[in-house]
Amino acid sequence: MFEDFRLIDGELHAEHVPLSRIAAEVGTPVYVYSRAGFERQAAAFRDGLKDCGPIHLAYAIKANPNLAVLRVMANAGYGADVVSGGELERALAAGMAAKDVVFSGVGKTRVELTQGLDRGIGQFNLELEAEGVALSEIAAARGQRAPCVLRVNPDVDAGTHAKISTGKAENKFGVAIGDAPAIYARLAQLPGLNLRGIAAHIGSQLLSLAPLEAAYQRLGALVAELRGAGHTVSHVDLGGGLGIAYKAGDVPPTPADYGAMVARVTRDWDVTLMFEPGRLIAGNAGVLLTRVIWVKPSPANPWVIVDAAMNDLARPALYDAWHDFAAVRPTGERFVANIAGPVCESGDTFAKAREIDRVGEGDLAIFRTAGAYGATMASTYNSRALVPEVMVDGDRYAIVADRIPAAQIMAEERVPEWLQA
Ligand SMILES: *Cc1c(COP(=O)(O)O)cnc(C)c1O
Repeated sequence: MFEDFRLIDGELHAEHVPLSRIAAEVGTPVYVYSRAGFERQAAAFRDGLKDCGPIHLAYAIKANPNLAVLRVMANAGYGADVVSGGELERALAAGMAAKDVVFSGVGKTRVELTQGLDRGIGQFNLELEAEGVALSEIAAARGQRAPCVLRVNPDVDAGTHAKISTGKAENKFGVAIGDAPAIYARLAQLPGLNLRGIAAHIGSQLLSLAPLEAAYQRLGALVAELRGAGHTVSHVDLGGGLGIAYKAGDVPPTPADYGAMVARVTRDWDVTLMFEPGRLIAGNAGVLLTRVIWVKPSPANPWVIVDAAMNDLARPALYDAWHDFAAVRPTGERFVANIAGPVCESGDTFAKAREIDRVGEGDLAIFRTAGAYGATMASTYNSRALVPEVMVDGDRYAIVADRIPAAQIMAEERVPEWLQA
């Protein structure tokens, strides 16, 4: 699971670049990506779906929208699943074809709908009836028919963290599956829409195929019902959500397991299947490289205070997420410690009472599996710099996002004249 970040001669490398070299040249904290890591996962996912008939692959770029990452994915033949006008522009800037872009998101504004039409994107995933009505009005006024599908909420429990669960009836996403036939019938008549199918996405970091299979069964029944009512259904978007290993003992379904289940469940559907993987592609292709500032004694376990913090990697604070921690030059000694960043919040804690490589002041270490939902969620809280990103390719690397210093962010702020007297 961690093949792109391994020990060579006692030191952790990203592919063939020693992490100490990146730390010396770029500074810490810094995200380090492996090009090969993205490419391997992109190929494995595609390969897993080889028995699923015609497919369309849209990388969910919110997982890691760095332009260099998007270029890797474009070269791998992926389009993009975007959830904002900003993400749409990124996908196009990275060289993805507009027709391969899917626009998801529960709060697309009229400005964003218009932007999608301007750019000629491949598909809008409608989240509610009113959105479809608005899109139809805008498109029809321009003499266009917007390609779209209706996102349904299949009401299954994804069995994942509540904050990344999206397919239960109480979640904000999609229309209730029971209401879908009536809504579909009304939207299908609108002059500005080319309503061509349905979509679902039930959550993220799913470690079992069972909820996905249950959701897809419901979609299959809906496809049959819609066709029975005389509608055309040519596309079904199955979303993303496949989980990955964050720690030893996590056994996520493989892309091959997933593909076999999809092939079995969708055998008679006769549609183009669409997929939106995010985490599966990016998660293990990145680490967050950090330096230990202090090791602070405490009555219970010592605190390892690192120079990365919750503003750089929010997942532990947001989702109680686990990221493996490893010394860049492990001595073989281990100890039990807490790991925290410098931010003034108790939530800025990466691990409590965890057995880790023994590290001391000045040592380098990584948080693993930080390629997805890492840098993209970073902020400058506590007037910290915005964390930079590096991509490694064999024995070379490039800075693919600069560190934005606190001073540069401050330079964008203004004190109004009426406060200056
Ligand atoms: C976030 C999201 C995805 C990607 O989810 P992963 O768990 O990262 O695969 C796909 N589709 C939609 C609509 C999303 O919101």
